[in-house]
Amino acid sequence: MNIIIFGPPGAGKGTQSNFLKEDLKMNQISTGDLLRNELKKESELSKQIRNIMDAGKLVSDKIIYDLIEDKISDINIKNKMIFDGFPRNIEQAKNLEIMLKKHDQNLSKVLNLKVDYSVLIKRISGRISCPVCKSTYNEYFDPPPQNCKENKMIKRSDDNEETVTKRLKTYDNETLPLLEYYKNQNKVINIDAMKQIDEVRKEIKGVLKD
Ligand code: AMP
Repeated sequence: MNIIIFGPPGAGKGTQSNFLKEDLKMNQISTGDLLRNELKKESELSKQIRNIMDAGKLVSDKIIYDLIEDKISDINIKNKMIFDGFPRNIEQAKNLEIMLKKHDQNLSKVLNLKVDYSVLIKRISGRISCPVCKSTYNEYFDPPPQNCKENKMIKRSDDNEETVTKRLKTYDNETLPLLEYYKNQNKVINIDAMKQIDEVRKEIKGVLKD
């Protein structure tokens, strides 16, 4: 089973993907994480990517395909993939189908994490993560435990209020139309992502067992 975890920035896609890794032994493929790894290389390409990400826009499809095909062709994670942050437009969705077909796979479901936009900005601008255990916390309503507090928390450079507003706009204009595309394929399952993290986890586990 391959699935897409879908929703606006701050909906909890990364958090729930991490649970799916534990609960169902699936593999998270986050294009955002893959891009952030590229940034560490400090190449000419990484400078371009950084500017685009900090402006809250989408990186070119070509760069994304190069990063993602590597994963889709990996036999070790075949049919056990969670796509997080990909696809982000119709063109990418069509290409995902082509890449999956080429490697004899398909897409089973699209989990649509539904959250009110009013809570997203606070969720994202407070987001921090521990460099050691990699867990994500929130400065406002989910502070790190004592053992993590001793480490210097990491904050993503695009997790500030100004960029978040732009990212939400990009989501509305380019990514949201994908929902209709997948509804027409009967693949969408709506998840109430306003609930507590553990309740969302249970709900997702339940729908994927059916
Ligand atoms: P994320 O970690 O998924 O929130 O992504 C952070 C940023 O990386 C986005 O705001 C985009 O600039 C870029 N990005 C991530 N995934 C994609 C994608 N599939 N297509 C284009 N840009 C992406």
